Amino acid sequence: MVKDIATARNDFPLLATTMNQAPITYLDNAATTQKPQPVIDRLIKYYQTENVNVQRGVYALAQATTTKYEQVRQQVADFLNAQPTEIVFTRGTTTSLNWVAQSFAPTVIQPDDEILITIMEHHSNLVPWQIVAQKLGARLRYVELDDAGHLDLKQLQASLTSRTKIVALTHVSNVLGTINPIKQITTWAHRVGAYVVVDGAQAVGHLPVDVQDLDCDFYAFSGHKVYGPTGIGVLYGKAALLAQMPPVEYGGEMINLVTRQTTDFKPAPAKFEAGTMPIAQVIGLGAALDYLTSLGWSQIMTQEQHLLQLAGSQLQAIPGVTLYGPALTTAHSAVLSFNLAGVHPHDLATVLDSQGVAIRAGHHCAQPLMTALQVSATARASFAFYNNDQDVERLITAVKMAKEFFQ
Ligand code: PLP
Repeated sequence: MVKDIATARNDFPLLATTMNQAPITYLDNAATTQKPQPVIDRLIKYYQTENVNVQRGVYALAQATTTKYEQVRQQVADFLNAQPTEIVFTRGTTTSLNWVAQSFAPTVIQPDDEILITIMEHHSNLVPWQIVAQKLGARLRYVELDDAGHLDLKQLQASLTSRTKIVALTHVSNVLGTINPIKQITTWAHRVGAYVVVDGAQAVGHLPVDVQDLDCDFYAFSGHKVYGPTGIGVLYGKAALLAQMPPVEYGGEMINLVTRQTTDFKPAPAKFEAGTMPIAQVIGLGAALDYLTSLGWSQIMTQEQHLLQLAGSQLQAIPGVTLYGPALTTAHSAVLSFNLAGVHPHDLATVLDSQGVAIRAGHHCAQPLMTALQVSATARASFAFYNNDQDVERLITAVKMAKEFFQ
């Protein structure tokens, strides 16, 4: 049965709390999402009745919890339309992307080859490529924004040559809200033999992701941004590519045989999961995906688009407000970056904080993008399906209050 999105907000205990004596208006969902009671309950149940190490013990509880851990791998695979052997559990998007850069890139990059990224990347999908490019003698190239605030697809196409070995880009920008046409880009990249690595941190949880349809080679996301726990992330990789990657970390449970001088590793995904994994977090991620599934994409996407249009149009109507990113009518997730003329975004966020409104202000871990936008920082309101019209109203009222206060 589909759960009603109008009452879903009641499932999130933090949303019923206050901040600075006001009801909290949580609009920092791009940083992390709140956790519904079923996820919290699942974590408690795990620690109360299921807590053992996995993949090791022969006793019944160890076997049972190992089965549940592996069931979540199957669940994630189903969620992304992949195979369970293509799902590696990591610490988060950052770890997933670093592992592709550190382990996969050296298997396909020669000196003078090129890695193509975009100017809208989060540092997590930028710095690892800088470092690996330096190490391998490769060139790091950027796709810029076009005049309308989208990725410049003409430049992207023109940049793809036989030298391009990896195209790494975000599915959804954490600053601009731009939804990039991954499927199209993958088709172009594969034509020149390049592999496509997708940072899905801001996409999963907000729109359906089908890695087979996108035909990307790697896809990364974080549990804590999809209503699950912190400390758990996912790396999807095509089976043949995971097979050619060496492990990044070495330790317990990822081996078949260790002798004094040599080690034979298990096949993927086990060879990447060295040591004790974040077991509770994996189980909690499973509960979060169950919760999302109970709402369904149609309700989630309709509500988030509604909030985007409502907040975007009202912000735009305030004199002195500049919105960054593509037009709201184009492919745009519910992330709004803006500035108020003459007011530093940190000051703006501080006034909003005094009214119980939590937004983010700063460079959003995207400093090259800030430079391209010719700003040092922006304010950012990012929405989730549990936000409502009253949250938008409180945001707008607080921005107007800041305007009066500072101008
Ligand atoms: N990529 C994007 C687009 C993000 O927005 C974020 C986090 O804000 C990350 C990567 C990094 O995610 P995490 O800190 O969960 O590893």
